[in-house]
Amino acid sequence: MVPVNEPLLNGNELAYLTRCIETGWISSEGPYVKEFEIRFSEKTGRNYGIAVSSGTAALETAVAALGIGPGDSVIMPAFTIISCAAAIVRAGACPVLIDADPVTWNMDLNQLEDTIKKELQRTDRNLKAIMIVHIYGLPVDMRPVMYLARNYDLKIIEDAAEMIGQTCRNRYCGSFGDISAFSFYPNKHITTGEGGMVLTNDTLLAEKCRSLRNLCFDHDRRFIHENLGWNFRMTNLQAALGLAQLERLDEFILKKREIGRCYNDLLKDIRGLQLPVEKTEYAENIYWVYGVVLEHTIPFDAAEAMKRLQQLKIGTRHFFYPMNLQPCLQKRGLFKGISCPVAERLALRGFYLPSGLALQDEQIHEVAAAVKEIMQ
Ligand SMILES: *Cc1c(COP(=O)(O)O)cnc(C)c1O
Repeated sequence: MVPVNEPLLNGNELAYLTRCIETGWISSEGPYVKEFEIRFSEKTGRNYGIAVSSGTAALETAVAALGIGPGDSVIMPAFTIISCAAAIVRAGACPVLIDADPVTWNMDLNQLEDTIKKELQRTDRNLKAIMIVHIYGLPVDMRPVMYLARNYDLKIIEDAAEMIGQTCRNRYCGSFGDISAFSFYPNKHITTGEGGMVLTNDTLLAEKCRSLRNLCFDHDRRFIHENLGWNFRMTNLQAALGLAQLERLDEFILKKREIGRCYNDLLKDIRGLQLPVEKTEYAENIYWVYGVVLEHTIPFDAAEAMKRLQQLKIGTRHFFYPMNLQPCLQKRGLFKGISCPVAERLALRGFYLPSGLALQDEQIHEVAAAVKEIMQ
């Protein structure tokens, strides 16, 4: 079986982990946590990094730190992971969806200003922020987003979980938002097993995040809490992995691009198969995952294609499922009568191919040959 996504753990991981055990520093108090925060925020070009226990935790922390709560709304893409909507809903705020762009699969920026204007006219809730999520490999073009956010006085929450080390207009993804979130789950560019990070340039926001991640303990009198926080702390063991992984980030990025471009070459002549794009005016593709979409001329859907590939021993994964159709959100009365035709089609017709860092050249060829075979 060709696996979908496997990390590479053959750098300094073992040495740093051993050091944790030898020194006894295994909890979040250990020195690697601070070091990982500093190195990661420096790499991305932000002043402060707050390591947390997952990407989902990073998003929750970011939304809470901005003070978003009941009566507020946040614009977000329909085509993304549930963590984005969960962070907004758990804060008591209302997510407002924008459909996907059919070519980039990111939030359709052509709809952003209209959505902002409509939302600002509402009297039942206050629009506070735009949550930007970079999907699969090609970043959202941040130039128009920054312009609109400034014009309408909105905060930007940037989910760069899939874009570690990726740039947009020569600036690192995750350095655009007032606050940004990353994940270090094993399928991401660098991993800590489970883990995440919040980045910001704002001293006050950083302080809030640090407090929220650690149960909002009072500085002067421990066990008194002005606010409710979480235990979202990252352990020294996880940070040890993170540091070793970060040392190889640039190498990992090159490898991902190589895998993506190799697929591009091998799959470009298959009719009815939409491939990922690059937008040279603002960004290359990093191919976090290599997504493909079956065009309308193909008489079967993604589930069928994935089944056929499974029979040929090729692992695949479904695309995201649109937020407007999520049972857990509909049950809360959200998105009544809202349709997102592009995101809905992507969920039905899109899936992604193996693109893990451990993938070998001959495996890429094997996958491409299998895709050709099932598309005939
Ligand atoms: C992976 C991912 C997350 C969630 O990260 P976890 O560490 O799994 O909680 C959030 N947003 C995006 C865009 C992701 O890809």
